[in-house]
Amino acid sequence: MQPKKSFALVNYDICAPKKCNPDEGRCVCVKACTHKVIKQLDGFYEQPMVFQDMCMGCWDCIEACPLDAVSVRNVS
Ligand code: SF4
Ligand code: SF4
Repeated sequence: MQPKKSFALVNYDICAPKKCNPDEGRCVCVKACTHKVIKQLDGFYEQPMVFQDMCMGCWDCIEACPLDAVSVRNVS
């Protein structure tokens, strides 16, 4: 049996780089993720995406997001 895996999921209805970092538009979670698997592919002020296959489910981004826009999803 495969071990349970967790990954981060961005709620795009809540996520707003203009609100969480109005000066720079940088997603705080990108900096918080030491595994470098959440990125703003379209540039600053754009919503980030998580490379879920490589996400460790470590919660660092969840704790960092000031708008609580990231949650963990568990898959069995
Ligand atoms: S995930 Fe959180 S920290 Fe990152 S851009 Fe969205 S609201 Fe801001
Ligand atoms: S849960 Fe951890 S590895 Fe996954 S995106 Fe967030 S900080 Fe990165």
